[in-house]
Amino acid sequence: MRYALFSDVHSNLEAFQAVLAAYAQENIDVYLCAGDVVGYGANPGGCLALLKKRQISCAAGNHDWAAAGRLDPSYFNRAAREAVCWTQNQLSKEETSFLSGLPLIHKSKDLILVHGTLDAPQDFVYLTDREQAEAAFQFMDRPVCFVGHTHVPEVFIQEGKNIYASMDSRIKLNPASRYIINVGSVGQPRDGNPLAAYCIYDTDARTFEIKRIAYDIETAQKKIMEAGLPASLARRLAEGY
Ligand code: ZN
Repeated sequence: MRYALFSDVHSNLEAFQAVLAAYAQENIDVYLCAGDVVGYGANPGGCLALLKKRQISCAAGNHDWAAAGRLDPSYFNRAAREAVCWTQNQLSKEETSFLSGLPLIHKSKDLILVHGTLDAPQDFVYLTDREQAEAAFQFMDRPVCFVGHTHVPEVFIQEGKNIYASMDSRIKLNPASRYIINVGSVGQPRDGNPLAAYCIYDTDARTFEIKRIAYDIETAQKKIMEAGLPASLARRLAEGY
């Protein structure tokens, strides 16, 4: 089975289209999204329509639930809060209820999908260190868990009692180990690389790979400015932060 795994599209239609076109070359069986389809960018409806058209299962992101009114965005930074309000006004009733109905955790026989951390999915914690990974590993009943939220690709590997992090873009999975894999962000990468991130998990070859693809950043930026969203949200796309 070949899984397409991606996260944090953030209403960036140009990036999402580029990633889906790249996946079309990859013999994908199942598409999965680790949350934050909306927020920040100018095309929430367009991105939700693509998700629906492809019947892509998705875990709830904090921006998804905030846009649906299910999460209080008062702890968001100012630009993110402004984007939440703007997004709420763009969504149809159907889109709002779709986002509100997204589950915190998605499981299949091969993997688990959660936006933040498995030990406290409702708190949307940024998983950035080994201690947090250790807490999350205790809740894993599958060998692999995919996460998003930080917008930075990274893999935490549990080998016996050891837990370590890897930034390798291609990993051969060891059947004796367990993995928490952050798939990075399609629509707003923050690892210094502005290219859209998308991942492939092949359960037969036992490989995980994160790839990057260029997209039309200028058009995405122009739409953000024309929508009256904060200029910082346009600027950061080109910087990859
Ligand atoms: Zn996000």
